[in-house]
Amino acid sequence: MTTIDLTGKVAIVTGGSRGIGKAIALAMAQNGASIALVYRHASEQAEQTLKELRDIGCDAEAFVGDVSCFDEVQQQVAAIHERFGHIDILVNNAGITHDTLLMRMSEQQWDDVINTNLKSVFNYAHACTPIMMRQRQGVIINMASVVGISGNAGQANYAASKAGIIAFTKSLARELGSRNIRVNAIAPGFIDTEMTLSLSPEQKESILQRIALRRQGTPKDVARCALFLASDLATYVTGQTLVCDGGMS
Ligand code: NAP
Repeated sequence: MTTIDLTGKVAIVTGGSRGIGKAIALAMAQNGASIALVYRHASEQAEQTLKELRDIGCDAEAFVGDVSCFDEVQQQVAAIHERFGHIDILVNNAGITHDTLLMRMSEQQWDDVINTNLKSVFNYAHACTPIMMRQRQGVIINMASVVGISGNAGQANYAASKAGIIAFTKSLARELGSRNIRVNAIAPGFIDTEMTLSLSPEQKESILQRIALRRQGTPKDVARCALFLASDLATYVTGQTLVCDGGMS
């Protein structure tokens, strides 16, 4: 029976400094992968994550940059490729929210969320796929959200970015399947990270009532899905969106 073994693989994890990205980086490292983690602002959190990765014997490096900037990503991926020699797994995880009703949503709030969440996925896929094609293997995992499937009042920008990621994933899977590159998405539900900290206790309780498992998800819950999709357990899985929401949707 195949087990999860990422020994010798190099994984880029965007937004790897904290939350879901950190859990994915650690889980992949625990299973043998080397990690290039990308963050933008939180250098202390990135340093801490880097330390935790290295403490478990992982060959890891942190790269600072804005995932929404095409030119920056091209240069960063080239630097990662030079540092590690290959790129086997790309986890497009970095994301932000600017929640408000459409009537109050500024152009800036729309652009920031679309560029950070969706354009970034294009940026990294564009930079990494030539490398993966030359290697004749690769895995891409894009972090969507259940609201990209269901929609959500107050999150038109975020939901649109996540729906875009799901369609991008399906299209890229069709483009790259013949090159032995698998492309999948994960759609988390309500996960306990800094992103969901600002919700009021009432909002949290109302969401919990709609979750079959009656608990908020943890970053590790999502990391296990990423591990599966990155591993040889998923060799015949591509173009899919794996919902990880405790039965919310
Ligand atoms: P988080 O704790 O807020 O972490 C976000 C990460 O993204 C941080 O490492 C952050 O780095 C990085 N990031 C944000 N903007 C960036 C930029 N422009 N360039 C580079 N890095 C950037 O969020 P999370 O909850 O772990 O979410 C991770 C992913 O899961 C996101 O795509 C999110 O939409 C998705 N998701 C989350 C939930 C949930 O309930 N938490 C549910 C569904 C989907 P800095 O701090 O350094 O900026």
